[in-house]
Amino acid sequence: ASGSDENDVVVIGGGPGGYVAAIKAAQLGLKTTCIEKRGTLGGTCLNVGCIPSKALLHSSHMYHEAKHAFANHGVKFSSVEVDLPAMMAQKDKAVSNLTKGIEGLFKKNKVNYVKGYGKLVSPSEVSVDTTEGGNTVVKGKHIIIATGSDVKSLPGITIDEKKVVSSTGALALTEIPKRLIVIGAGYIGLEMGSVWGRLGSEITVVEFASEIVPTMDAEVRKQFQRSLEKQGMKFKLKTKVVGVDTSGDGVKLTLEPAAGGDQTTLEADVVLVSAGRTPFTAELGLDKIGVETDKIGRILVNERFATNVSGVYAIGDVIPGPMLAHKAEEDGVACVEYIAGKVGHVDYDKVPGVVYTMPEVASVGKTEEQVKELGVEYRVGKFPFLANSRAKAIDNAEGLVKILAEKETDKILGVHIMAPNAGELIHEAAIALQYDASSEDIARVCHAHPTMSEAVKEAAMATYDKPIHI
Ligand code: FAD
Repeated sequence: ASGSDENDVVVIGGGPGGYVAAIKAAQLGLKTTCIEKRGTLGGTCLNVGCIPSKALLHSSHMYHEAKHAFANHGVKFSSVEVDLPAMMAQKDKAVSNLTKGIEGLFKKNKVNYVKGYGKLVSPSEVSVDTTEGGNTVVKGKHIIIATGSDVKSLPGITIDEKKVVSSTGALALTEIPKRLIVIGAGYIGLEMGSVWGRLGSEITVVEFASEIVPTMDAEVRKQFQRSLEKQGMKFKLKTKVVGVDTSGDGVKLTLEPAAGGDQTTLEADVVLVSAGRTPFTAELGLDKIGVETDKIGRILVNERFATNVSGVYAIGDVIPGPMLAHKAEEDGVACVEYIAGKVGHVDYDKVPGVVYTMPEVASVGKTEEQVKELGVEYRVGKFPFLANSRAKAIDNAEGLVKILAEKETDKILGVHIMAPNAGELIHEAAIALQYDASSEDIARVCHAHPTMSEAVKEAAMATYDKPIHI
C-alpha cells in the first residue's frame, strides 16, 4: 500500500524522534509513513534504553530497600531474594506493552507503518528492504531522517555482549556478576552500575576524565559522587583502559593513568562499555543524495531541521544536541510543524537532564561553571533535603536544591536538584525557566505541605532573600 502512492511525510526510524514526528504529522493532516527496521517501534529508548533501564532501576531499588531500609520503617522479612528471570520478565513486559502501544497510536492516527531497512535513493524516495524479505519504494514530499544512534565502542575493545557488554547487554545479563567494571562515568554507566550494584555486584567505574558526568554542576556532582561511593561504587578517574583480555574465566583490564605512567590490572566477571553513543547512518544512502554530516557523522540541519538537500530533514540523536529521548521528541514535533507551514520551537538551553540513580540528579539551564563563564553577576540559593519535612518523614533526606539567578534581575539561570525524585521535581524549574521567571516568582507560589517540592520553594527564597526552615 505504501509503495505507489505518495506521502506528504516519510519518517525513517521509529524511535522517540521518529514515531512522535509521524504521529504529529498525521495529526496535522499530513499523509505519513514511518519506516522501522527493528521489528518494534519506540527505538533505542523503549527497546534498549530509557524504559528497560528504568524498569531495572526500580526493581533493583525495591530489592535494595527491602534489604537495607524496610527494617528502619518497622517492616521485617525473614529473607529477601532476587529472582533475576522474574525481574527481567517484568522489564520485558513493560517494554513490549509500550512498544505495542505505539503501534496502537499509529493505527489510531492513521500513520502507515512499514517494517524494514530504509535507504534514500533520491530526495523523495526511500527504498525499503522489508522485514518479510521483499523490497518496496516509499515516496514522500518530505523525508525525515530519525535513525538515532548506536553504542560507541572503544579502540581495541570488542563487545561480545556476554563478558564485554554494551548497555544493551547490561540490560539482559542472566546472572548477577560478582564484579562489574563500568568503562565511562556518564549517566548510562552510572545507572547500569547502580542496578547491578544494588543486586550485589562490586562496581568499579573507570573514567578517562577527571570527573563523573561532566555536564553536571560541579558542587552537585561532588555530593553525587560521594553518595554513590557510600553505596559502594568505586571510581578510578583520570584512568584509561589500554588492554582487555577475555581469554581467561573473567575479563582482565590493563589500566594506565590518563596522563601516562605505570600500568595496573583490574579483573572482573563482566565489563560494561558505556563510553557514549554515535549517530547511526549506516547504509542510509546519505552520500548518494549528498546529505552533509559533521566530523563525527551527525547530520547537519538548520533551525527548521532541514538538511542541505531540499525536502530532507533530520531530528533526534542523529543531529547535534543532547542525545535524549525528550529532545528527540521536541525535534520531531517542531520539524513537522515547520513542514506543515506552522512555526516550531525547541529551546536547547532548557532541555532538562536527569540521572536516574538513587538519589536522582536533575538539572535544567546553566551550571554555576557556565554562569561564571558568561560573566554575569549571579546569586546562589540552596536548600538541603535534610531540612525538608517530607524527606525527613520518609527517612530519605539526602541531596539539595540549588538555584542560580542573575543578581540584577533575579531571573533564574539554572536549577540543580539531587533527591530521590529529582526527575519529577525539576519540571517546576523547567517551567520557571521557560517563562523567564525570577527566584521570587517561585518562592511566592504556594507549595503544598509536606512535599519535597517545598525544598524548591525554599531554595528560591534562599536565592533572593532567606529561607524559613534553615
Ligand atoms: P533512536 O531511539 O535510536 O531510534 C532510531 C530508530 O531508527 C531505531 O529504532 C532504529 O532501528 C531505526 N533505524 C535506524 N536506521 C534505520 C533505517 N535505515 N531504516 C529503518 N529504521 C532505521 N534518554 C532519555 O531521555 N532518558 C533516559 O532515561 C535515557 N536512558 C537511556 C538508557 C540507555 C541504556 C540508552 C542506550 C539510552 C538512553 N537514553 C535516554 C537515550 C535515548 O534512548 C535516545 O536519546 C533516544 O532514543 C533517541 O531517539 P531517536 O528517535 O533519535 O533515535
